[in-house]
Amino acid sequence: MKPKIIYVAGDGRSGSTLLDSILSNIEGSVSVGECHRFWVRFYEKETLCGCGEKIEKCTLWSKIDKKLHQKFPDYDSEYIKQKVKEIQYFKNFKKIPKLLQTKEWQYFAEIVIYFYNQIAETSQSNIIIDSSKSIGWCYFLQNTGAFDLRIIHLERNLASVANSWKKKMLLPEYYDKDVFMPQKTNKVILKSWIKIKVLALDLKKNNCFMFLKYESFCQKPEFWLTKIKEFVGEPFDITEFIMIPTHSIGGNPMRSGSNKKIVISNKKVDLHHLNFFEKIFFKSSSIIAKTFIR
Ligand SMILES: [Zn+2]
Repeated sequence: MKPKIIYVAGDGRSGSTLLDSILSNIEGSVSVGECHRFWVRFYEKETLCGCGEKIEKCTLWSKIDKKLHQKFPDYDSEYIKQKVKEIQYFKNFKKIPKLLQTKEWQYFAEIVIYFYNQIAETSQSNIIIDSSKSIGWCYFLQNTGAFDLRIIHLERNLASVANSWKKKMLLPEYYDKDVFMPQKTNKVILKSWIKIKVLALDLKKNNCFMFLKYESFCQKPEFWLTKIKEFVGEPFDITEFIMIPTHSIGGNPMRSGSNKKIVISNKKVDLHHLNFFEKIFFKSSSIIAKTFIR
């Protein structure tokens, strides 16, 4: 049976942490966060896994690393890391189906397919919650044809996304040093938001795609949770959610074992990290983008 990947796609700062925490409540699932970062985070040995262990000592990821070495005698994590990076570039996006016909990329795909299968096998969960967000990575997974892929494209208002990118935020998974999330310029924020919106149209071309507007989700959680439940095709209680320990890469290890109830807040973002002109800039850009990209 193909592993079922519930993939959260979209821009950074779009509310994927909340959605991921909710999806982690699906029975028999394993949440792996931004798992395409495995080839960076596992080998740099500087972060904690969502389960609270140092990532290189985590029961799941250390076993997967071992299995990769056993299965592929010439396995080179640095080479795979570079390949993952190439997939991330927007300019390579359209080339992905063609790339997959070459020997070099077939070898890479074989490793990635094995990697996801091992997540399912080792964790004994055939449902993988993957919040990698990257559209390129998602398109790559889709083109391998090796997974039962359910894509949720999560989109948040451009001004709220921009406001969040302006905040100085510490990455919680680094335990020995202070690493801050990057702060993007206005141009980069706009460019990336629009590119994701455009490229997601290609992901839409299969039946297993769902568009979710973050603001609408927070306003009408019951409505959207019923839709999500139908879409993922798995039984799960949509009346109450708790923080469940995960093996999330790039997630917050503090949530591990907290068992705290998840609250879906409908509070309006006050955009106080944006100045007057930035507010106008992002709000009008968003209206223009929505008119042209459908
Ligand atoms: Zn772990």
